[in-house]
Amino acid sequence: MESTAEKVQEVVDKVKNVAIANNKPKGEKKVKKAKEASSDRPLELSPSPEYIESRIQLFEKLKAEYDAEVAAKPREDITISLPDGNVRLGKSWETSPADIARGISKSLFEKTVIALVDGQLWDLERPLEGSCRLELLDFNHPEGKKVFWHSSAHVLGESCEKRFGCHLTYGPPTDEGFFYDMAIPDGEPVKAEDLKPLETLAQKAIKEKQKFERLEVSKENLLEMFKYSKYKQHFIETKVPDGEKTTVYRNGPLIDLCVGPHVPHTGRITAFKVMKNSASYWQGDANSDSLQRIYGVSFPDKKLMTEHLAMLEEAAKRDHRKIGKEQELFFFHELSPGSCFFLPHGARIYNVLMEFLREEYWARGYEEVMTPNMYNTKLWETSGHWQNYQENMFAFDVEKDKFGLKPMNCPGHCLLFAHRERSYRELPWRVADFGVLHRNEFSGALTGLTRVRRFQQDDSHIFCTEEQVKSEIHGLFDFLKKVYGLLGFTFKLKLSTRPEEKYVGDIETWNKAEAQLQEALEEFTAKGNSQWELNPGDGAFYGPKIDITISDALKRDHQCATIQLDFQLPQRFKLEYQTGEAPKKAEDGAGEEHHYKRPVMIHRAIYGSFERFIGILTEHFAGKWPFWLSPRQIMIIPVMVGASDYCLEVQKMFRAKGMHVDVDLSGNTMNKKIRAAQLQQYNYIFVLGAQEKESRAINMRNRDDPSSQQRGEVVPLDEALEKFCKLKSERRLENKL
Ligand SMILES: [Zn+2]
Ligand SMILES: [Zn+2]
Repeated sequence: MESTAEKVQEVVDKVKNVAIANNKPKGEKKVKKAKEASSDRPLELSPSPEYIESRIQLFEKLKAEYDAEVAAKPREDITISLPDGNVRLGKSWETSPADIARGISKSLFEKTVIALVDGQLWDLERPLEGSCRLELLDFNHPEGKKVFWHSSAHVLGESCEKRFGCHLTYGPPTDEGFFYDMAIPDGEPVKAEDLKPLETLAQKAIKEKQKFERLEVSKENLLEMFKYSKYKQHFIETKVPDGEKTTVYRNGPLIDLCVGPHVPHTGRITAFKVMKNSASYWQGDANSDSLQRIYGVSFPDKKLMTEHLAMLEEAAKRDHRKIGKEQELFFFHELSPGSCFFLPHGARIYNVLMEFLREEYWARGYEEVMTPNMYNTKLWETSGHWQNYQENMFAFDVEKDKFGLKPMNCPGHCLLFAHRERSYRELPWRVADFGVLHRNEFSGALTGLTRVRRFQQDDSHIFCTEEQVKSEIHGLFDFLKKVYGLLGFTFKLKLSTRPEEKYVGDIETWNKAEAQLQEALEEFTAKGNSQWELNPGDGAFYGPKIDITISDALKRDHQCATIQLDFQLPQRFKLEYQTGEAPKKAEDGAGEEHHYKRPVMIHRAIYGSFERFIGILTEHFAGKWPFWLSPRQIMIIPVMVGASDYCLEVQKMFRAKGMHVDVDLSGNTMNKKIRAAQLQQYNYIFVLGAQEKESRAINMRNRDDPSSQQRGEVVPLDEALEKFCKLKSERRLENKL
């Protein structure tokens, strides 16, 4: 029961609500929101937290000393080389990248986010210290975007300190913006109604065009400057060696421990939005302090923000968790977190994807195997997983031994290879395995099909000779093109090469393999297929790799496939094959000795995990599956009861050809049935009556052809059946006969 006082309050709130948002529909939800907004927390604390002032005092004192030091540095003539070959002249400790940019054009300066000086990120206004190579990066450059969002996190941090008097902990850029973690006094949570005021405070900071000022500070002074915060103290104690310095940056009242760099001033952040908040833990550790996390996003242009928000809205509509529920594809249960239940319609998609690969495997000379799910830990010790990957594995006792569930198939496949003597004639040996894998993901990190504990991969291992690497890679590129092309994805390739130190295998093997990968990439992309780039030094310690990134219908990137060369596992499992060289006489003179060599192992997957890939596909297609993948291909609706037998006959014919066909014989009206089938995203709806029955034809509506919705297209039954069979077997992307 509502009290009178509450009713009065509600009326007042309604009035307020009309005043602040008069174009929004009135309703209970809005009223509730307005009620929350009448929080009595002021926009910002007054007086502001004590630490802000004392931090500034120390900063200003040290900055004056530092500026004097810089002023005393010798000014020498330096040369600054630009990527287009131009060379500019300047003075050391005086000329900054900003000067060079402004010297070229005002618009160039304004769109430049950050400089790259001899390959190192450098604040635009920071004086150059000697002759150098200079590159200017804008927001479209991945590093530029990172710096832009990282700088925006400072603005968010500044707003949070002002509003909550909180202790900031960690505020990095992410793929979709940035966040800042913080501890609010008395462990208070952030509320939804705090987000708008934070945005207001951020707008103020942006309007002030606060300069980002860089200062190098000694460890003692840092400990003094941040003495109020145990979190910053922790970073200083653990990250800064005794007797060394690191940098802090100031923008407005915020001084933050940070290696930088940043945009020149906050005014560069034209569009700024606080997105949401959540709880987090100090250093991601559930046993540690609870923190509050606030997310934001920003752009140098209002139009980019509008586009981004529209994209997010579209992404929310396509969320695979939402569509999975609506289409009854899958669900999760608390009794087995991270392990998906695929309902019949979801299992159809899973199986069709698998069938498709099996066909390709057949054509491409792969052989499917089945291997155990659990192994004695001795296997994981040999492979190195026990030493390096144990915390991600589920382990348990079996009789007197410890066993582990496999997190990947590779070690098992090494046992397959080692099972008997192998000859060069058998290579390349392409072994495919859809085995079930388990990885012990932290329960808090599990999200829909994106992050799971139980999954299957389209996993394969190719055992080949060093000389066969290139042709195998070509085969893989062709495979990728086929699969991704069929699903309407474009993709990019990235080659990661040998790390500087700590790598296994001899350098010659690496060089040979990398040269083959590079040649294959060049030849593949020269034919107009996709693009590739080099990521030097970023390979795994056990071999170079090619990462493949697909771009979905919303232009979002996903990494699914990998091609990873491995020189280590064959070594650890002592794998070898008999080479084609003529045998030599055995040392004891009796019999012959063969020559042996280690094979190269290539790990490869195209979908990656089926689970995650189905999640990506659901969002890519927005639940409108292409016919061959669709779990609901055809719905047949009788116009009247008399047509039911014909409907069932048609269903039987199509079903016999392996198509998912349903008939709606419920008591609903025809229009209601059509509407229901449309919502369930049936690719085709057949509406059959006396006329169709008599002429043995079908009247069909195509999901993706609006013109067929009112009055369907009439096609003779036999012809339709033939066309549908082709649509399915050709795995066409377009829903068109
Ligand atoms: Zn920073
Ligand atoms: Zn593998």
